[in-house]
Amino acid sequence: MKIESLDLPESVIRFYLDSGIEELYPPQAEAIEKGLLEGKNLLAAIPTASGKTLLAELAMLKAISNGGKALYIVPLRALASEKFDRFRTFSSVSVKGEGNGGLRVGISTGDFESRDEWLGSNDIIVATSEKTDSLLRNETSWMQEITTIVVDEVHLLDSANRGPTLEVTLTKLMKLNPGCQIIALSATVGNAYEIADWLKGKLVLSEWRPTRLQEGVYLNGNINFHGSQKRIEARSQDDAVNILLDTLEEGGQCLVFESSRKNSVSFAKRAGTKVAETLDKPTRKALDELVEEIIENGETEAANELAKCVRNGTAFHHAGLNSAHRRIVEDGFRANKIKVISSTPTLAAGLNLPARRVIIRSYRRYDPNYGMQPIPVLDYKQMAGRAGRPHLDPYGESVLIAKSYNEMTGLFDNYIDADAEDIWSKLGSENALRTHILSTIVNGFATTRDGLLEFIEATFFAHQNDTWGIMDVVDECLDFLRIHGMLEGEDTLLPTVLGRLVSTLYIDPLSGAYIVDGLKKAKAENITDMTLLHLICKTPDMRQLYMRASDYEVINDIIMARSDEFVEIPPRSKEVDYEWFMAEVKTALLVEDWINEKSLDQITKKFGVGEGDVHAFADIAEWLMHSTSRLAGLIAPEMAKDISSHVALLEKRIHYGASSDLIELVSIRGIGRVRARKLYDSGLKTVQAIKSSDIGTVSELIGPKTARKLFEELGLTSGLRPSGSGDGIKSETMS
Ligand code: ADP
Repeated sequence: MKIESLDLPESVIRFYLDSGIEELYPPQAEAIEKGLLEGKNLLAAIPTASGKTLLAELAMLKAISNGGKALYIVPLRALASEKFDRFRTFSSVSVKGEGNGGLRVGISTGDFESRDEWLGSNDIIVATSEKTDSLLRNETSWMQEITTIVVDEVHLLDSANRGPTLEVTLTKLMKLNPGCQIIALSATVGNAYEIADWLKGKLVLSEWRPTRLQEGVYLNGNINFHGSQKRIEARSQDDAVNILLDTLEEGGQCLVFESSRKNSVSFAKRAGTKVAETLDKPTRKALDELVEEIIENGETEAANELAKCVRNGTAFHHAGLNSAHRRIVEDGFRANKIKVISSTPTLAAGLNLPARRVIIRSYRRYDPNYGMQPIPVLDYKQMAGRAGRPHLDPYGESVLIAKSYNEMTGLFDNYIDADAEDIWSKLGSENALRTHILSTIVNGFATTRDGLLEFIEATFFAHQNDTWGIMDVVDECLDFLRIHGMLEGEDTLLPTVLGRLVSTLYIDPLSGAYIVDGLKKAKAENITDMTLLHLICKTPDMRQLYMRASDYEVINDIIMARSDEFVEIPPRSKEVDYEWFMAEVKTALLVEDWINEKSLDQITKKFGVGEGDVHAFADIAEWLMHSTSRLAGLIAPEMAKDISSHVALLEKRIHYGASSDLIELVSIRGIGRVRARKLYDSGLKTVQAIKSSDIGTVSELIGPKTARKLFEELGLTSGLRPSGSGDGIKSETMS
C-alpha cells in the first residue's frame, strides 16, 4: 500500500515521502484496512521496529487534520522524550490546513500535583501513564478534548507495579471520552485478542519484521540456528566475547544482556581489552572525546569506570548511571563509536537502540523470593527483538548461550520456539486498588458502592475475571479509606478534603495515612530532619534500600543513638518489623547525606548505589516531602506554622541536595550545589554579594565559562565585557 494512496492531508504525505517512506509495511497496511484512519480502535501487536510508532502517527495526524487532539501514553520518561523529539519533527507540517500553523507537540512529565493546563494548546501531548493518571485526578480540562489516545507498550498491563495504573487510566479515559479512538501498541503476547476485545478494537497481530531476525543458541564454538550453524573463532576464554568479536569483524555492533548491574559492568571491562585491539584511529579519537565528556559529567568513581570502558569501545548501561552518562552511551552507540553495550534488561524495555547482534548472556534473573529464575518468554522476545537495525543491518541475530546439548534444546523449546505468555491484569490486590478506588470516587467516576462495581466492570481485570471475588478487597479498601478520614458515607461515597488532597498529590492513601499519623504524633520541638525523612521513607511510595550484611551493625547503632528523632518508638530488634525499620532508616540516611552535601562519590560508595539511584531517591523524596507539607497545612494548621517552614525548606534542600545556607545560591539557574558551596565558602554568600563582586573573582572560583553564564543570569551583562575587549556574549541558556 502506497503512502500516497492514503486519505491524509497532502502535507503529511509529502512529509513521509521526503523522509524516504513510500510504501507501508504489511502490518501498517493491515491497520489501515481495519479502519485506522476512520477512527476505529485498534491493537497492533507486532515486533519492535516494525513500524508501530509510524502507524500511530498516521492515526494522530489524521485526527489532527480533522480538528482533533492526541494523547500519546508511554511507560517511561526516557521514552516520552524520545517520542516528543520524534513528533516535534512534524512542527513544520501544516496538518491543520494552510494558515493554521504547524503542528504543536507538548510533553508532560513534571510534578504530579499540577494540571499542566498550558499543554492544552498542543495537538499531540506525550505523557507517562502515571502522569496521565495524575492529570485526570487534577481534572485537567484538555483531557476531555482528546480525540485519539495512543497507548505504547500496552502489554505492561501485566506489570504489578505499573499495570493497574495503566488499566485504570485507560478505563477512566474511555468513560470520559466515549467517542475517542484508541490505538494500543503491544509486543506480541499470547492473548493479544483479549486486550483488543477489552478496548473494543480490531487486532493486527503479526510477526513480520523489516529486518530478518535469526534466533540461535551458542554451544561449544558454534551458534546453532534452525537449519544452519555458524562457527565462532575462539579468540579468548570467554564465549560471549568471542561472539562479540565475530560481530565486530562483520562490521556490526552488539548488545549484551546481563542479569545484574555488576555483571554488566564486569563484561564491559572484560570485553574492552579485546575490543580495543580492533579499533581504528578515527574511532579511537572519537571515543577519547566521549571519555572527556563522561569525566566532565561525573562526580563518582563510576565515571572513571565507564570512561575506561568507553576508551576501549565498550560501555555498560543500567539505571545506576546518571542521565548524562546514559545519553552519552546511547548516542555514542547510535553513532557507531561505542561497539558494544552490556546492559541490564531495562534497555530492552526502554529505548530504541537496536544492534546487529544481541547476546543474552543470562536468561535467569534474581527474584527476591525465589532466587535465580528463568525470565519470561516475553522478556526474551523483547531482548532478541533488538537485533537488526532497520535499513542499516542486512539481518539481525540473537544468541543465547548454553553449556550443554540438553540446555540448548531446552532453550530452543522454551524461548526460541515458544509463544510469549498471556498477560494478566494485576488490579486485584488491595495495594493496587486502594489508590485507584479513592481517585475514582474523588473524580466522580463512582459515587456509590454499586457505581464502583460498575466502574470495575469496565476494567481489563473484569474482562478477564469474575468480579465477585474482588468485592471483598474493594470493601476492605473502602473501610481503610473511611478509617483514615479520606472517605465518608455508606450509601453515597463522599471524599473528604483529606481524601481529595491525597488523590491529587498522587500518593498511595497508605502513604497519606502514615504521614498524617506521623505529623499528629510528632512533637514540634523534637522534630529534626531525620524525623521527617524517616517518615517519608516509611511510606510505600518510597523505594527502600536493601540491607546488606555489613549494614546491620551500623544501622542498629544509628537507630539506638538517634531513637528520639523518630515519631514512633523503633520496634524491638527481635521483631520482624525491625528489618523494615532498618531499611527505612538506611534510606532516610541516604537522603540526609544528600541534603548535607556529602559528595555523590561518598554517597554512592557508602550505600552501594549509582548516581542515577541517588537522583531517583531524591526525586521521590522531594515529591513526598511536598506532599507532607501540603498535608501538614491541612490537618494541623496551627502546628503547621512551626512545621511547614521546616518541611518546605527540606523540600527545597532535597531538590538541590544542599544545606539551608546554600538555598539562595543554588536557586540561581545553572549553579549546582558544588559551585554554590565554593562561592559561599569564599564569602560570596548571597546574590547581592555576587552582584557586588567582579567576574574575575567569580571566574577563579567556578571557572570563566560558568562565571559568565552566572553574570548573564543575574542580568550583569555589563560586567561581562572588560572595556575595549569587544568580547561578544553568547546567549546560550544554562543547564
Ligand atoms: P516501532 O515503533 O515499531 O519500533 P517505528 O515506527 O519507530 O517502529 O519504525 C522503525 C523504523 O522504521 C523507523 O526508522 C521508521 O522511520 C521506519 N519505518 C516505519 N515504517 C516504515 C515504512 N513503511 N517504510 C520504511 N520505513 C519505515
